[in-house]
Order: sequence, then structure tokens, then C-alpha cells
Amino acid sequence: MSVTCSIPFEVYHVVCDKRHEDLIAVDEKLTPTLEDYLRAIYRIERKQKAARPKDISRAQDVASSTVTAALQSLAEREMVNYEPYELITLTEKGRKEAERLTIRHHIVRNFLVEILGLEPQQAKTTTCDMEHAVSRQALERFVCFLAFIQRHTAARVNWLDAFRRFIQEGVDGQTCKQCVKEYMNALRLRDEG
Ligand SMILES: [Zn+2]
Repeated sequence: MSVTCSIPFEVYHVVCDKRHEDLIAVDEKLTPTLEDYLRAIYRIERKQKAARPKDISRAQDVASSTVTAALQSLAEREMVNYEPYELITLTEKGRKEAERLTIRHHIVRNFLVEILGLEPQQAKTTTCDMEHAVSRQALERFVCFLAFIQRHTAARVNWLDAFRRFIQEGVDGQTCKQCVKEYMNALRLRDEG
């Protein structure tokens, strides 16, 4: 089974290039919830040019009163153009931030799905939890790791496929159980030291 990494070349190239490090310098001021809203508005806007509060509450599965508060908050930060009863659009600042958040989301998701082999549905909640917590340094490493795997196809086929077999057959396979046990023992020893 071969695994393809869906990070477009430009993205990981740019992210790994220190001259473009702004790309993943995510705005620290937004709360996880606001980040998710911003990304949701970006998705809706790309699909249908502008968003209605109804679209956002549906996308985020929340009550419309919650959406109003979030929209006001994003408008205060000059990230969305928002007037009650009007269509919602992103400002230039909001769109840039949403693009960064979207790239970050894909990086985390790709790691969980393409490297760790989680089902996309299983990866959804974890991606959403991790994306807000992942540090910039860790994110850069994720990208470089994914990029490395994608670039070095031959190496990927060898050990990434072996890893996939390990997690598939390892559940009941004596050998893999042994591997995991050894690894966990080594971790415990390190903790004690
Ligand atoms: Zn999230």
C-alpha cells in the first residue's frame, strides 16, 4: 500500500524556507474557537463568495447566538466585515490569517492520516484539538517530516509501509506486541532516571 502526502509542494517548500517563515506564524491572539470560526467562514466564502450566520452555525453545529458573539469578536479584530443582517466576508487580514490556519490544519491532519494512518473521520476531532496547541517549531517539523517522506519516495515505501503493516498486524501479532512492550519499558526506565 503506498501513501501519498497531499501537502502541495509549494506549501512545504515555503514553510521549510526560513525566508518565508511568516506563513505559519499563526496569530496568537485568537482563541481556538475563533480560529475555528475564521476557518469555517473562509471555507464557506470560497464555496459561495460570502457567508450567512446560518451557514456558519450549521458548519460549526452551534446556536446562532454563539455565532453572533464570535462574529463581533472577529469584527473587532478587523478580520471579518460584519453588520447584522448583512452577508459576512473576510477582510484582507482575516483572509491571510484563515489561510495560515487552513494550512496548519492540513499539516496536522496529514500527519495523523497519512503517517499515523488514522481514518479521516477518526482524525477530525484530534486534528481540531491539536491544531490550536501545536507550537510553531513542532509544526515546522511536521512539515519537514511530511516533506521528507514525500520527497524520498524509495525510503517511504520501505519503512512507512512497514509501519502500516506493524499497526495493522501488530494488534494481535506477538512480534509487534514485543516491540511496543520494549519501547514502553525503555520509556519507563528513562522516566525513572
Ligand atoms: Zn480546531
